[in-house]
Amino acid sequence: MTAFATLPLKPALLASLETLGYTEMTPVQAQSLPPMLAGRDVIAQAQTGSGKTAAFGLALLQALQVETIRLQALVLCPTRELADQVSKALRKLAANIPNVKLLTLCGGMPLGPQLASLAHDPHIVVGTPGRVQEHLKRGSLHGGGIRVLVLDEADRMLDMGFSEAIDDIVGRIAKHHQTLLFSATYPDEIRAVSQRVQQEPVAITVEVPTEAKPAIEQQFIEVEPAHKLDALAQLLSGERGQHALVFCNMRKDVDAVAQELDRRGFSALALHGDMEQRDRDEVLVRFANRSCNVLVATDVAARGLDIAALPLVVSHDIAHDPDTHTHRIGRTGRAGETGLAITLCTPRERPKAANIEEAQGAPLPWCTLKLAPPRGKTLHLAPMRTLVIDAGRQDKLRPGDILGALTGDAGLDAKDIGKIDVFATRAYVAIGRALAAKALERLRAGRIKGRNFRVRALD
Ligand code: AMP
Repeated sequence: MTAFATLPLKPALLASLETLGYTEMTPVQAQSLPPMLAGRDVIAQAQTGSGKTAAFGLALLQALQVETIRLQALVLCPTRELADQVSKALRKLAANIPNVKLLTLCGGMPLGPQLASLAHDPHIVVGTPGRVQEHLKRGSLHGGGIRVLVLDEADRMLDMGFSEAIDDIVGRIAKHHQTLLFSATYPDEIRAVSQRVQQEPVAITVEVPTEAKPAIEQQFIEVEPAHKLDALAQLLSGERGQHALVFCNMRKDVDAVAQELDRRGFSALALHGDMEQRDRDEVLVRFANRSCNVLVATDVAARGLDIAALPLVVSHDIAHDPDTHTHRIGRTGRAGETGLAITLCTPRERPKAANIEEAQGAPLPWCTLKLAPPRGKTLHLAPMRTLVIDAGRQDKLRPGDILGALTGDAGLDAKDIGKIDVFATRAYVAIGRALAAKALERLRAGRIKGRNFRVRALD
């Protein structure tokens, strides 16, 4: 009963599902797709990993009329990272529908190129509320033909203060449209938004079966403020420290902690909201391609990141409130493997721990950490290193070209080459650390796609 083939989907969409290897619907898809395809408004409680993107993606692509060159579907996301992920997923689902034009419009990116690409109406826009609102106000984006509006991770959009922008956007687009609202949590504010922007929505909640929930082991460790960094470094020295996310409450601490970890021999990078988009992208690429072991971030910066499956999450500072704590620990725990979430807590921060304990309804698992005597600097370097090529999609550079250059003339083995990420004007390739210098030298001496591009190594 839960096969996609039971749904009245366009053959092109069924073909994409087949290519993607999706045969059975996830619970969220099975419940939300029938009412969405029938044109109803839907409010669905769905987490990352539930298959929600494909759910609303199929609904909006099914409603799309490609021959009508108008904006027909608008997806609002809290962060650029999420908007990029959603765009990628939608492109895959739309792969068999010719001529679909999809644009990603996010804040933090220059306006000029966005205006240029809006010279002709796209069919689908995925973006962050502030920037989409700006384009609608300027008249560079026309909302009169919108048939489907998606609010993805609506709770996070409200957390980030996008409530007014969303209301304004709704006031600027076609009056009659279908609104699909996805949210991991249902606080009162979400109900209020739903009441404002939806009509008789079908509400969907999917209980995640306990055995399907990733197992998370928590540890709370009391430390004096002066020993926090020693404790953190010790915790990160183990196997799980090979891919860990560290939370700090304040931006300035994010930098300080990342620098100190770096000084102590870890491949650590900082991520916070003050960073230029380009630097953020670079940090995320390096963390995902394993040339950085430890990402130190604020909660805001970590929102919407597609890095759910980490073996270790450490709160360098205990979260101010239980909800934030829950979001943080949810970043660990992989299918079949227990994730570890460690919270450092100074004696003065005990009241925050008490709040978390009350919210969790169970005693906190306090552990003691015996600090090892300081040793000399030990290196805990990431297994890969990143090379940056100053060329990208605009130069028609594709991952295959980079792989070809490295395995061809440069003589590397494909197994030593990691993730390749191609952006508009830059491309990143991860190389096994021991071979990175050689790869850099060879790439500089040789050609990629018959051309010479500037290449450099990071760190
Ligand atoms: P999401 O909750 O949208 O972030 O999706 C979580 C992951 O599940 C994504 O990697 C999707 O590619 C994948 N996915 C979505 N729907 C299905 C499906 N019906 N069968 C298998 N995988 C799926």
